[in-house]
Amino acid sequence: MMIGICGAGTMGRGIAIACLTAGHGVVMCDLSDTALTDARTGVMDQLRKAVEKGKLSQDAFSKAEGGLTTSVALDALASCDMVIEAIAERLDLKHTLFTALETIVGPKAILASNTSSISIASLARVLSDPSRFVGLHFFNPAHIMKLVEVIRGPRTSPSVVDTCVEFAKGLGKTPVVAADAPGFIVNRIARNYYNESQRIVMEGAASISQIDSLMKSLGFRMGPFELMDLIGVDVNLDVTKSQWAQFFNEPRFTPSLLQQQYVDAGLHGKKSGGGFTI
Ligand code: NAD
Repeated sequence: MMIGICGAGTMGRGIAIACLTAGHGVVMCDLSDTALTDARTGVMDQLRKAVEKGKLSQDAFSKAEGGLTTSVALDALASCDMVIEAIAERLDLKHTLFTALETIVGPKAILASNTSSISIASLARVLSDPSRFVGLHFFNPAHIMKLVEVIRGPRTSPSVVDTCVEFAKGLGKTPVVAADAPGFIVNRIARNYYNESQRIVMEGAASISQIDSLMKSLGFRMGPFELMDLIGVDVNLDVTKSQWAQFFNEPRFTPSLLQQQYVDAGLHGKKSGGGFTI
């Protein structure tokens, strides 16, 4: 398949690697040539590492290298069978993008969003054909994490859900079909991991490093603060805000002032060089 990816940031790059190594062609779009050059370098570095580790053959590497195209013009996505959006977690920006995409891609192309929290129903409402719209929620790092939530909106066609499930399996992933509920499945559960940890720090009951090492000693791969730094402190806060709003400001999902301060200060985690644990 030919897969379009809009947004060449943390998630767009991981999704591109997953698609390329599964033999798909990829067209990646972002707002600037600089962003796309960085993304191509990042993707190719990861693929090279996979060859060094013996996880990818030299042939597959060459095919992946040739299969990746980048463009700032959305028109480059015209022949894609599926476009996966991975831009900022903002409804207005995603609406603008999907409105444009619908006029560019073919009538059978699937339009998918990697949104972490925004309802599929609200994202699809700007489309003249919402039946081809679906949530395809990869986890970070997208080329490594097996889980993919396939989110069925109220107007998503069952055949589009089936195609996405098969597509995810073809990437070596474990797809789970999720209902269109705020935060879907994983992010709803995970909100407590992040929010309660920040409340504990703000109360002075434990430090960031104490919480992270405690959770790791319990068997979690990463503590909540290390994980927020990997995700992007800004992206994670946007997800919390979106989920809180969708639950009509339910107090247990209230965003943290501590996280807002980190975002205001530009401490956005790994991608910014500063954050809770960096
Ligand atoms: P990011 O900030 O790392 O990257 C976003 C990219 O999109 C940037 O390169 C930006 O220049 C580009 N962009 C913005 N507007 C655009 C447009 N109109 N057209 C093309 N490109 C545009 O963000 P991210 O962490 O990759 O998150 C992207 C999406 O994936 C969000 O919806 C987020 O909620 C979701 N998500 C993130 C994670 C995570 O751990 N970071 C995990 C799962 C899902």
